Amino acid sequence: MTKVSYKRSWAEPYRMKMVELLKMTTRPQRVKAMKEAGFNTFLLRSEDVYIDLLTDSGTNAMSDRQWSAFMLGDEAYAGSSSFYRMEAAIQKYYGYKYVIPTHQGRGAENILSKILIKPGDIVPGNMYFTTTRLHQELAGGKFYDIIIDEAHDALSEHPFKGNVDLSKLEVLVKKYGAKKIPYVSIATNVNMAGGQPISMQNLRELHTYCQSQGIRIIHDMTRVAENAYFIQQREKGYEKKSIKDIVKELCSLTDGATMSAKKDALVNIGGFLATNEREVYEEARNMVVVYEGLHTYGGLAGRDMEAIAVGIGESVDDYHQHARVGQVEYLGHQMMNYGIPIVKPIGGHGIFVDAKAFLPHLTQDQFPAQTLAAEMYIDSGVRTMERGIVSAGRNEKGENYYPKLELVRFTIPRRVYTQAHMDVIAESAATVFNRRKKIKGLKMVYEPKYLRFFQARFERL
Ligand SMILES: *Cc1c(COP(=O)(O)O)cnc(C)c1O
Repeated sequence: MTKVSYKRSWAEPYRMKMVELLKMTTRPQRVKAMKEAGFNTFLLRSEDVYIDLLTDSGTNAMSDRQWSAFMLGDEAYAGSSSFYRMEAAIQKYYGYKYVIPTHQGRGAENILSKILIKPGDIVPGNMYFTTTRLHQELAGGKFYDIIIDEAHDALSEHPFKGNVDLSKLEVLVKKYGAKKIPYVSIATNVNMAGGQPISMQNLRELHTYCQSQGIRIIHDMTRVAENAYFIQQREKGYEKKSIKDIVKELCSLTDGATMSAKKDALVNIGGFLATNEREVYEEARNMVVVYEGLHTYGGLAGRDMEAIAVGIGESVDDYHQHARVGQVEYLGHQMMNYGIPIVKPIGGHGIFVDAKAFLPHLTQDQFPAQTLAAEMYIDSGVRTMERGIVSAGRNEKGENYYPKLELVRFTIPRRVYTQAHMDVIAESAATVFNRRKKIKGLKMVYEPKYLRFFQARFERL
């Protein structure tokens, strides 16, 4: 077993062999671009962006080994050797028995939800994720949030904000009966809570309880290695365990998984479904042909499966995760040094700035997070994303939801930006912070019917 000790700074365990040149813009150019984009960072052209923190999904830099593996892609329609390499990597690092590739995470969610959920079923989980919940609902299920209360509190510094509150699950089992619960949906490093981990102890207790009730645990393992890093850093008994071992142990406490390989696994596209149950696998193998492609490619090219196989191995490397999360933490500490209000503890994949605290003179109807994201872009060309009232949308009666959290997400792609970029981001946030009192809010002038945050347009008040 490796003894993990990170004596020094989080510096990258790689060096650069190729770079992607960026267009540098002036402030007047950015003011014009932002106006044309209706003050919505989703509507900017990426060539006008200097540092792109919109998402960590599919925006990772692949390694020389992954690019080399691309050339080994076996593009056979059936029985591609690239599939068998990807399957072997998943079995080796995650321990699941059966594997079905899909074009990305939501493809796996679609198939698994259709197989396991019957109309009227209950699906408890540690906070919702947009596509995951939607597929559970489309299959006729209803999602119930059983995460601990601290996860919904921006100020709580609980080290494992991704934990399940078992008493909330017990209430559901008592009320509806275990037969109505096809599985508990558990995300590692909970995205919507700000990249917050679940502890091994909590998952073990959940596993014991679910076994006693005959309920499966399905693992949304999109960021499992980042979760493992936090366990190594924070949980007693895991200080000396390798991320590789921790990842395998996490997976062993669950019965199946869906994964978006676009995050942890360091590729630009891809995903898969995994299960330990033969019958579930047989059904998934039938269904994948309808929605994705044959069960040995699932909508992916052979080269994509090669890159995933290599990426999974790289993602569980201790020094990779130390640098990955270390960089995010570095940015968070720089921001805190400037007095900028952020969600704590610092999460695994980005910094979440509290826009209500940043722009307290704006009401939530004046879109503080949307405003702050626009100001960040105008100041420095840094593109971030709103996670507040615009993202929350409207209820069935057409009234706005008023979410407790009004956040701007600074998501960090893996292996893409340098520490100097992190400094620029923090300096720019500080510049905007210093003139925050002069910042005016926005009004919405165009609102699409579905998922409005992607395409809504705004004007300055
Ligand atoms: C991105 C994501 C998904 C969906 O995956 P896609 O590859 O975008 O379809 C599911 N769950 C979580 C936690 C994610 O972050």
